[in-house]
Amino acid sequence: MGDMTSATAATARGDGPVFGGIEAGGTKFVCAVGTGPDDVRAEVRFPTTTPGETIEQAVSFFREHAERSPLAAVGIASFGPVDPDPASPMYGYITSTPKPGWQNTDFAGSVERALGVPVGFDTDTNVAALGEHRWGAAQGFDTFIYLTVGTGIGGGGVVGGKPMHGLLHPEMGHIRIPHDSTQDPFPGACPFHGDCLEGLAAGPAMEQRWGRRAEDLPADHPAWALEARYLALALTCFTFVLSPQRIVMGGGIMSHPAIFPMIRFGLGDLLNGYLQTPDLLSGLDRYVVPPGLGQRSGVLGAIALAQDHYDASR
Ligand code: ZN
Repeated sequence: MGDMTSATAATARGDGPVFGGIEAGGTKFVCAVGTGPDDVRAEVRFPTTTPGETIEQAVSFFREHAERSPLAAVGIASFGPVDPDPASPMYGYITSTPKPGWQNTDFAGSVERALGVPVGFDTDTNVAALGEHRWGAAQGFDTFIYLTVGTGIGGGGVVGGKPMHGLLHPEMGHIRIPHDSTQDPFPGACPFHGDCLEGLAAGPAMEQRWGRRAEDLPADHPAWALEARYLALALTCFTFVLSPQRIVMGGGIMSHPAIFPMIRFGLGDLLNGYLQTPDLLSGLDRYVVPPGLGQRSGVLGAIALAQDHYDASR
C-alpha cells in the first residue's frame, strides 16, 4: 500500500522540472519549491529585513532544496516599483520603492548569480494574476485584472494573454477617484499623491481615518460603506479603461465578510447598465470575485512564472 501511494504521488508529480517561487512583500517573503498548487514540496516565510540578508535567506532555502532535486528556474513576484523590461539595464531591479534600503536593488540578478538558474521577474500583482490565470479564478480569460487591497493597493493583470507592462507596469492603486471632502474630510495617506485610491482606501488610510485598524472595525461600521464606495469607483475606471473579463480581488481588507457584495452593488450602480454583456447584466457575482488560490496567488504565481521562463529559455 505504501509503495502504491508513493508511486501514485510520483506519477502525479511526474519526473519533470521543479521550480522555485519567491513572493517578496514589504513585510515578509514567502518562498516555495514545487510545480503547482497540488505539488508544493517545501515552503518557508520570513520577515523582510535588509536586501542582502533577505535575499540570502531565500537563496539558502533554494540551495538546501536543490541538493535533493535541482531547480529548473525561479520566479520572483516583487513589491515595487520594479523594472520588468528584459531589454533594460535595470531589469530585475526594485527601483524607486519608498521601503528604506531597497532602492535600486538588483533582485533578480542576485538570485540568478547565486543559484545559476534562469530567473523570471515581475510585480507581485502581475505574478499573482498569472497564478490565478493558471490555477485560480481567472482560468480561461485572456484579459483580466488582479487587485490587492491591504497595507497598500496594487493591481496587475493580463491583456491578450500577456502580463501588463507597457511604460513600466500598472500602478492601479494610485489612480485618482472622486473624493468628497465634506463627506470624508480625511486628507489621504499616500506620500506621493495624498488622496489617491491607496491614500484613501488602503489599510493605513482606514486606520488613520477611524483611529482603529481595519480588522478591529465592526462589520456595521460606516467605514465599510465608504471603503466599498471608493473601491467601486476604482473598479468602474478599470472596467471602462481595460475591459477586463473578470476582476479578482485579494488582500487583507477583502476578507471583511460584506465587502464583496457592497462593492458589486456599488459597481453595478455606477456602470448603470451601460455595458451590455450577460455577465454584467445578470449580477456581478461572477465578475468581481475573490482569488481562487486564496492567499497563495503570489507564491504559486511565482512558480508559474518560473515555468514560463524555463519554457521560454529552452
Ligand atoms: Zn498614491
